[in-house]
Amino acid sequence: MNKIQLVIALIVAAFSLFSYFGSSSVNQITGEKQHIGGMSQKQEVAMGLQSAPQMAQQMGGLSQDARARELVSQVGAKVVAQSVAAKSGYPFKFHTLADPRTVNAFALPGGQIFITMSLLSKLETEGQLAGVLGHEVGHVLARHSAEHIAKDQLTQGLTGAFAMGSGSMNAAQIGQMVGQMTMLKYGRDDELEADGLGLRLMSEAGYDPRAMIRVMQILEKASGGSRNPEFQSSHPSPPHRIEEINAKLKKAFPNGIPAGLTP
Ligand SMILES: [Zn+2]
Repeated sequence: MNKIQLVIALIVAAFSLFSYFGSSSVNQITGEKQHIGGMSQKQEVAMGLQSAPQMAQQMGGLSQDARARELVSQVGAKVVAQSVAAKSGYPFKFHTLADPRTVNAFALPGGQIFITMSLLSKLETEGQLAGVLGHEVGHVLARHSAEHIAKDQLTQGLTGAFAMGSGSMNAAQIGQMVGQMTMLKYGRDDELEADGLGLRLMSEAGYDPRAMIRVMQILEKASGGSRNPEFQSSHPSPPHRIEEINAKLKKAFPNGIPAGLTP
């Protein structure tokens, strides 16, 4: 068993135990009370950093397209630097995966964010990319992974940690487990909350939030494929998300969307 496995096993095990004493905390960004067990921001960051290289590898590796990678990093950095996300303390990093077929974007706990070339190539404007990345940053800020890990921990956490700690789980399985915990289990409410945060972040960063509506249309069109990306999973359908986006925009901008935002 290597050191990384041990570290992750210990984090998961410690987290499972703390959760028994179930405390709740108020999320600084969303203002919502949430159950995240004993998981600290530092632990989220550690988990994400440990899993990121492996996640990239499992998903076919990072893109060789330097221009695409640069664009994703720049737009991601802008969405973070010029919005409330900058105050969160998470070290955000935006990765571009080579995968030309799976239309997908996802976030690991603590700020490691991924988008596939397939999704990137379907986007038409910088604002749309800001919308996708803003949505993922929203999952991180709302600590959705931590919430879901907290929900799962009593049934799975200790078992998983034991399996990891005993060496019966290999690195790939650990990566898979972290992946399942983080990206596959977002619920409908999480998606809508991430959409709302994404709209806020992208408009704070100077992007026209209406670009998110087009993103949903693009995702709907792409959902003919059978793969299982985060954006078109079992959760709210794009038309429903568009309705919600319109409602949120009306509320956030009662006098209309300000002029001069980047589309
Ligand atoms: Zn999402």
